[in-house]
Amino acid sequence: MSRESKQARLERALEICARMDDAYPRAACALTYTSPFELTIAVLLSAQTTDVAVNKVTPRLFSRWPTPLDLANAEVGEVEEVIRTIGFYHTKARNCVGCARVIVDEYGGEVPSTMEELQTLPGVGRKTANVVLTEGFGIVEGIAVDTHVFRITHRLHLASAATPAQTERELLALLPRENWGAVNRQFVLFGREVCTARSPHCTGCPLSDLCPSAGRDVNVQARTQRRS
Ligand code: SF4
Repeated sequence: MSRESKQARLERALEICARMDDAYPRAACALTYTSPFELTIAVLLSAQTTDVAVNKVTPRLFSRWPTPLDLANAEVGEVEEVIRTIGFYHTKARNCVGCARVIVDEYGGEVPSTMEELQTLPGVGRKTANVVLTEGFGIVEGIAVDTHVFRITHRLHLASAATPAQTERELLALLPRENWGAVNRQFVLFGREVCTARSPHCTGCPLSDLCPSAGRDVNVQARTQRRS
């Protein structure tokens, strides 16, 4: 696979996308939200924690501070109390309130809908902005490279870059635009169910004949774990 031509890699990538479409035809964001504002806050909270954990705290959060103005005026300590069951809640509480303040002060109380503007919100980087644009506004400008997308695309040798930002650039250069929107939704599910972080289920994986890492990661990771 190391000498794979650009055309062969594209064809393999398109076949991977087609099989993901077959496997996850209705893949959707698992966060619970009713507006771009709630989505933005939910995605902020979801860093390094599960969507399930986020969905447990957001009903109380959004019921207590339902609008950007309400949250902008909230005490950070009170927000911390509500979200304290999720990781990094000190920083996330500060970012939630800061984010709401910028939405109110700079954008008239409405979540902005461009990549550039979204990244002016505290705690919002390109990955979060991609999710908000795609799921909240139906605008696909890139691919949200989270831990699942990063891990899987590297195992599949669709990307080799060291950072999520560079990985996104590699994927955008490889895949046609019409494929971008589904990658995160599908790989998040695929990464939870099949190509898991510690012990990928390569036997029976629908991509095994297209994957240079098939059967290898299990051994590599087992060796790594034995040493650690
Ligand atoms: S074959 Fe294994 S490493 Fe490759 S995509 Fe499938 S589960 Fe992941």
